[in-house]
Amino acid sequence: MHRTCVLQSLDEAHQCDLYRKGLRPRLRRRLMSGRPRYQVPAGFIARGWRYEVEATTSGQRSLIQQHFGARRFAHNWALAEVKANLNARSTDPSVQPLPWDLPSLRRAWNQAKNQVAPWWPCCSKEAYASGIADLVTGLHNWTASKNGRRAGRPVGFPRFKARGRDHGRVRFCTGAMRLESDRRHLILPVIGRLRCKENTRSLQRLLVKEQGRVLSMTLSEHGGRQFVSVSAIVVHTQRGPSEPDARCGIDLGIGREWAVVAHADGTIERTAHPAPWAGVQDERRRAARRASRRIVGSRGHHHARTKLAALDRRAANLRRESVHALTSALARRYGTIVVEDLDVSAMARGMGRRAFRRTVHQAGIGVVRPVLAYKTRWAGGQLVVADRWFASSRIHHGCGGYHARLRLQDQVWVCPRCGERVDRNANAALNLRDWTGPVTDRDVQRGGVAAPVPFVGDHGGQACTQVQACEAL
Ligand SMILES: [Zn+2]
Repeated sequence: MHRTCVLQSLDEAHQCDLYRKGLRPRLRRRLMSGRPRYQVPAGFIARGWRYEVEATTSGQRSLIQQHFGARRFAHNWALAEVKANLNARSTDPSVQPLPWDLPSLRRAWNQAKNQVAPWWPCCSKEAYASGIADLVTGLHNWTASKNGRRAGRPVGFPRFKARGRDHGRVRFCTGAMRLESDRRHLILPVIGRLRCKENTRSLQRLLVKEQGRVLSMTLSEHGGRQFVSVSAIVVHTQRGPSEPDARCGIDLGIGREWAVVAHADGTIERTAHPAPWAGVQDERRRAARRASRRIVGSRGHHHARTKLAALDRRAANLRRESVHALTSALARRYGTIVVEDLDVSAMARGMGRRAFRRTVHQAGIGVVRPVLAYKTRWAGGQLVVADRWFASSRIHHGCGGYHARLRLQDQVWVCPRCGERVDRNANAALNLRDWTGPVTDRDVQRGGVAAPVPFVGDHGGQACTQVQACEAL
């Protein structure tokens, strides 16, 4: 249904989702038809790049903080309007409902801004628009969750943002934004020139050759560092996997072996646990204790928090690296990749102790499937998700013997039928590789998520997700 889904800008992108899901069909058609249409051109895909940046002039730091604050202010203002309207309607049903869509709320903001925020010209209008857009997303998620249209844990009603609770971010969809030709700087509207800590070559050369176009740039702050996520459409040439007819199976685990891959030629590849947690765990515990003993708001507290953020960032980076290394290599090689349908949160719940639950989440096995889902699609391959109840660990791949009483800690078991010693993980990977069960649930087969989101790009906003969703469905 989304070949024809269209987006003018990223705002539009998530509006289109709102209209699609939230409104009555006739109203939906009416609202959709009146909008200018832009289609991600054939042969293009939407992708994200993320660069760490730093200010180049002394005034920029405070300007960036102002923009974060402006975004928060507009969000809170719009939320207050929505709440006031809801309250008014609960007492007097004849009050007109306030539409919860971006154009209406932006119009209301533009009418009110001279009164409520006379300082508004200091910041880019995109700062206010991005705050309101995120509120609209939040409201939409809440209604979808309430009405059972949204999977996952329940989503609450949007809350007012405070500086301490909400990490700073602002998305620019229009205005003078570009990458500099020195491949070391980028330009944001109003904020100006920022230095990238990483070479921007991979994106910049596509833009120069007119093989890509920037849709939006999001400036955000995490753990005291600033990042710019660039969302762009780029030319996509599908090379096809190098072994289009071959299959491989992946068994993911939380033990010593993180991923065990059964290749088409029968070889078994074992990848050790990325173990970012084990490496930084002790240090992190110490840093967290130190932070908890400092007075909130003090310089010491700030230092301890910075240290903690650095450790978390390192663990996340290591984990991301191993996920991408594994998935890229497989997606380029195989026409069909089989993974199991893991319920990671159920796994974690079943683990009991908090330390065990933590290992489940720290292993990052839940992200392998969504990442594979979009990478296989880009490479021209296919991702097959085996049935959740397929006992890949308990069936002997050699003879089909079934070991009913396999325990979690049994790494090697003896097949009750042929008496052979079986390596648990390698056996499971082989079973998955040769899995031929029915492929039923389309949502699961797509990666089990409504919109596979790449690691790179903007996670804070709706933008990337929606672009992905539009080109995916
Ligand atoms: Zn056997």
